[in-house]
Amino acid sequence: MSRRPLIAGNWKMNGLLSDGTALAQAVAQGGKDAPCDILICPPVTLLGAVKSVLSGSAIQLGAQDCHWQEKGAHTGDISPQMLVDVGCSHVILGHSERRADHGETDSQVAQKASAAHQAGLIAVICVGETEAQRDAGDTMSVISAQLDGSVPQSATSENTVIAYEPVWAIGTGRTPTAQEANQVHAHIRAHLHGRLGDAGTAALRILYGGSMKPGNAADLLAQPDIDGGLIGGAALKAEDFLSIVAAAKA
Ligand code: PEP
Repeated sequence: MSRRPLIAGNWKMNGLLSDGTALAQAVAQGGKDAPCDILICPPVTLLGAVKSVLSGSAIQLGAQDCHWQEKGAHTGDISPQMLVDVGCSHVILGHSERRADHGETDSQVAQKASAAHQAGLIAVICVGETEAQRDAGDTMSVISAQLDGSVPQSATSENTVIAYEPVWAIGTGRTPTAQEANQVHAHIRAHLHGRLGDAGTAALRILYGGSMKPGNAADLLAQPDIDGGLIGGAALKAEDFLSIVAAAKA
């Protein structure tokens, strides 16, 4: 089955109003007629402004985290309903930086993803092994445990995207080979078969993230189980991001 690729930009904690809206404008302009779906995930402060810039374009808007409750006494947090209200279709959850910086656990990620689904958002759930886990030969078991803990019962291939992001590859310029990455993607698809069934696993989009750049994107994206990319550093330069977009073909 052919899955339409998704190229998602995770801007992390980067961008002020002027440069953030200029970047979104450049992506919207250059991303017309793209061979894939495009998602940009700016910091929460820019969601409203970027939504305005994207109006009339097919580019989708996502956030980088959400709380699991709809509203209430959670200072500094943002609910899934608030993200929908500002125009988001997606939310990244369980990124390794949130797991490391904020001690997020698999079960919190699952709670957040379930709440995101209830609000009508597509959850981009991140999993990935550390370098020590990889060196110990534990990559597949670590990924299986993260999937079991982080993907809620409500997940379907329509409301969930999985992002495989080896922690040691994020922001380092290092990547697994395209074949190694594809093996992990195939493992993720097989592992979720019990939950999603034949049609669900065949339709599930699994993104690769971790130092994807214009120079390595075509090779990674040519792999049969790699259905797109979650891009950090290279999403901050329109030219680089659009070059990755151009490399993604169904
Ligand atoms: C990320 O953090 O999601 C990521 C993939 O970052 P980078 O592309 O910079 O490695």
